[in-house]
Amino acid sequence: MPSALSNVVHIVTRQPLDERLGSAVRPGECLACFLHRMIGTAQCLGEFTWTEHYRHMRSPRAVALERRLRAAGATCDCDVLDRVWRLNGALLVRDAVTDGLVPPTEPVPCAATRPRSTRPCTNWVAVRDLAP
Ligand SMILES: [Zn+2]
Ligand SMILES: [Zn+2]
Repeated sequence: MPSALSNVVHIVTRQPLDERLGSAVRPGECLACFLHRMIGTAQCLGEFTWTEHYRHMRSPRAVALERRLRAAGATCDCDVLDRVWRLNGALLVRDAVTDGLVPPTEPVPCAATRPRSTRPCTNWVAVRDLAP
């Protein structure tokens, strides 16, 4: 049964969903790491396409998830990793050119969360906790 999601991804990539993109949620993988991985390999598709994909696979009963993320200021998947959660500062690396701290180019392994949790793992910090 084709879902709206596989239609969207198919239009963008012309490829079946899971084989090419590895879009299956990995065991224990948290929402933030999943979004980070999918935006890196398949880009933000607008709206909460990947968030909803994650929710269907991991936490189908977390029906308020999108509303919660919107309330925190996000309007699409990539916004979540900018306005809601940011990569933990301890994981940033120093850029040799700019001398600034940047996210690592290698993917960071998920530190894992409880099954069915929609909270991020310790790789991420809530943006509201970063505010001075
Ligand atoms: Zn986006
Ligand atoms: Zn994680």
